[in-house]
Amino acid sequence: MSAATVYFTNLRSRVGYSLLDKTRRMFVKSGFAGRIDKGDKVAVKLHFGEYGNTAFLPPMFAQVIVDEIKKAGGKPFLIDTNTLYKGSRGNAIDHLETAFRNGFSYATVGAPVIIGDGLIGMDYVREVIDGKHFKDVKIAAAFHHADAVVNMTHFTAHELFGFGGAVKGIGMGCAAPSGKQEMHSDVLPEVNAEKCTSCGRCYNWCPVDAIDWEAGTKAQIIQKLCIGCGECTVACTYHAIAVNWKTDPNITQEKTAEYAYGALKNKDRKALFFSYLMNVSPDCDCYGFSDPPFVPDIGIMVSEDPVALDQAAVDHVNRAQPLAGSKLEDMKTDDKVKSIHGIDWRAILAHGEAMGLGKREYRVEEIE
Ligand code: SF4
Ligand code: SF4
Repeated sequence: MSAATVYFTNLRSRVGYSLLDKTRRMFVKSGFAGRIDKGDKVAVKLHFGEYGNTAFLPPMFAQVIVDEIKKAGGKPFLIDTNTLYKGSRGNAIDHLETAFRNGFSYATVGAPVIIGDGLIGMDYVREVIDGKHFKDVKIAAAFHHADAVVNMTHFTAHELFGFGGAVKGIGMGCAAPSGKQEMHSDVLPEVNAEKCTSCGRCYNWCPVDAIDWEAGTKAQIIQKLCIGCGECTVACTYHAIAVNWKTDPNITQEKTAEYAYGALKNKDRKALFFSYLMNVSPDCDCYGFSDPPFVPDIGIMVSEDPVALDQAAVDHVNRAQPLAGSKLEDMKTDDKVKSIHGIDWRAILAHGEAMGLGKREYRVEEIE
């Protein structure tokens, strides 16, 4: 099995050749335009950034890709999904407002912005994968129905994955919130009786009748019937069914690789992955702040293989010098990505490779 190709360009620029020009050149070099058919609906998957975060990938990079997709005959749209946790992106209204405040709108990028799993995260499609952890996965409907995808990742460290890269961005980032719960938790949810208003919404949403409820009574989850799908955690708008974050990072990483596999299953050779190794912050863009980067800006990578891309990105970050004044400053370590949060990052790539999502062996082709 031959190594996957990862294109790399450093971040040096000059008059007439900006980082936007480099982004365009990387897209052209990838040959992806030739795989877009006229009228294809092309998802440009991004993270719009939690409000207050300033490290996320700025919208002008997406604008370049939008232009190139249009030139190739496609119909681009920007997409992300609702989050599981409370924050500025937990439903489509808040999420679109946050995207707008962070600079992502039709006016700035020339393409519609769509929250892929709908108003409250209930719009998803089940994709059968027969994985080690999941028989099927819940993929945001608008992502599933797209004909092609260009994923644009801002590489960061991460408290559960070790790093936030392409596989995590697709796996977690294209899942409906109840799918995110499935990935994050091995423990079944419980109702907080004090917060429960007896509205019955969870009872109506539970797919396996695992909720005991009658009008005027508090809901209770019947643990022996509950399959841990997480639907009730999303359905309860009173936050009476807590998201259970308890999990083993290796298991969450494997589950996320399975979600990425499911998200990309119907995108045969119509997926391209960018990774921006700039502002490599210690925490992901889901936080409403950004601590200084722990390594210098490195470059931009592109590949058709998300596993190879992530492996190459981690290797490049681990080879970089730690930055003074950053979280890594006093840590003497070869595995910088692991050291930031003490999380081994390998499980997501190993399981992704085992699933057939890509391969960890890569060769770098440098682009000027
Ligand atoms: S949806 Fe929430 S508030 Fe309503 S019955 Fe269920 S747990 Fe109680
Ligand atoms: S997690 Fe799923 S199966 Fe369990 S009670 Fe909630 S909706 Fe029902």
